[in-house]
Amino acid sequence: MSHSFRDAPLALLDGRAFIDGERRWAAQQQRFDDVSPLDGKLLCEVARCDSLDIDLAVNAARRAFDDQRWRGLPPAKRKQVLIAFAEQILAHREELAWLETVDMGKPIRYARSVDVNSTANCIRWYGEAIDKVYGEIAPTSAQALALITREPLGVVGVIVPWNYPMIMAAWKIAPALATGNSVVLKPSEKSPLSALRLAELALAAGVPPGVFNVVPGFGPEAGTPLALHMDVDGIGFTGSTRVGKQIHVMAGQSNLKRAWTELGGKSPNIVFADCPDLEQAVQSSVASIFFNQGESCNAPSRLLVENSIKPAFIQRALELLPSYAPAHPLDEATVMGALVDRTQMDTVLGYIARGQQEGARLLAGGERVMQDSGGYFVQATLFDGVHNDMAIAREEIFGPVLSVMGFDSAAEAVHLANDNIYGLQAAVWSRDINKAHGVARALRAGTVHVNQYDEDDITVPFGGYKQSGVGRDKSLHAFDKYTELKTTWIRIDSPV
Ligand code: NAD
Repeated sequence: MSHSFRDAPLALLDGRAFIDGERRWAAQQQRFDDVSPLDGKLLCEVARCDSLDIDLAVNAARRAFDDQRWRGLPPAKRKQVLIAFAEQILAHREELAWLETVDMGKPIRYARSVDVNSTANCIRWYGEAIDKVYGEIAPTSAQALALITREPLGVVGVIVPWNYPMIMAAWKIAPALATGNSVVLKPSEKSPLSALRLAELALAAGVPPGVFNVVPGFGPEAGTPLALHMDVDGIGFTGSTRVGKQIHVMAGQSNLKRAWTELGGKSPNIVFADCPDLEQAVQSSVASIFFNQGESCNAPSRLLVENSIKPAFIQRALELLPSYAPAHPLDEATVMGALVDRTQMDTVLGYIARGQQEGARLLAGGERVMQDSGGYFVQATLFDGVHNDMAIAREEIFGPVLSVMGFDSAAEAVHLANDNIYGLQAAVWSRDINKAHGVARALRAGTVHVNQYDEDDITVPFGGYKQSGVGRDKSLHAFDKYTELKTTWIRIDSPV
């Protein structure tokens, strides 16, 4: 542990909520401890907001919506402000990356190159898009004109998890703000700091007070009142399938607010013996499961390999594993950081124990390491001999654990892949275009990769089939979630 991140300026660690353009503590003055996963010690205190603070934030957001200080601006002006917001984020790259790393445990190199860049890019992209989206005129009779336009929903609640705190927030706040909504964001209690800083940067860029509010707190105390709020018009949620289901119930129980959910995954990665480049397939499969310590909803956590190449594939994967040894997240060379907290570490270690009890073969990893740091580090772990009915094949572990299964035919691979409640992402590796395309078509997943697992772009929709959620983030499709379609009929009494 060479990095004394505890010497950082304390001003960076500000856990106060951001409501109506101001930092403030929770109305009831409650706070909670935000612990760093790097050493298990207190980072700072954070406002423990509850329904009173949610009311304040929603009221501020409603006022901002009703007086049109944001939605009333021409799209070109909102574009300008959102681009300035993106530039603010890039100008504060080091600070934001540092916050993300000490709060959540990911390697600083990725916090900088992935999290900060993707967040800025997302906000810029939706800003740039908003003055290029047109309405429609319907092909009706000549006696009428039917205009089909999009209007903002109003007040949008956003609830996000801790694995990519800024990116998950940006995927929702960017299209919501671009279309003129006001937003109340509840970040995860495990990683609230970067979102709070984003709100300050938005204000500095010209997003008016009240338009973007951030209310930290626990799910049942702050998330539930937001999801149940009668004056919130839509809710964008990313998190577990368990809570996502409750969000839809809460939307129904309250005002039928629009509810969009991006939920869990257990993505199958199918490698056929005729994959174009075995070395590339191994490298990509290993890199993708261990990226972000395996705490990615779309991590390819189920590796299905054709039995004829399975021994060679596993041998090569095992050779690569040492390069994913956990190390200090603030060290520039680190590729595998800390798990977000003790609870998550215990969950991951629990699944590893369960995999062994259920008869899977632990070939590498499986241990907590760097214990003297006080942080929550778990080795890159590989199980062979996994069956699809084992917990480590069925359930989302959300940690650095790869479960390997064999198969003998395309039909068997597709059956194994689809035999799961999730349907977020999948991959197929084969040089046979018919096989690759046929399998891609048969997979029940929102995204299917062919002969790679790395491509990603803000221009493509992201979301799940089955219990991986409802709706899509990213791309122009995300505008559908934060707007209502309005039809305006105009009678035409033509004088000619
Ligand atoms: P989580 O469901 O526990 O929490 C997510 C958010 O919901 C947090 O802000 C939490 O405070 C809040 N919350 C919890 N209980 C609540 C309640 N009763 N009412 C309202 N809000 C509540 O999930 P997590 O552990 O933070 O994140 C991990 C999960 O997120 C994984 O399942 C992962 O797959 C999923 N995820 C999905 C995507 C995607 O795009 N599909 C992306 C990232 C993460």
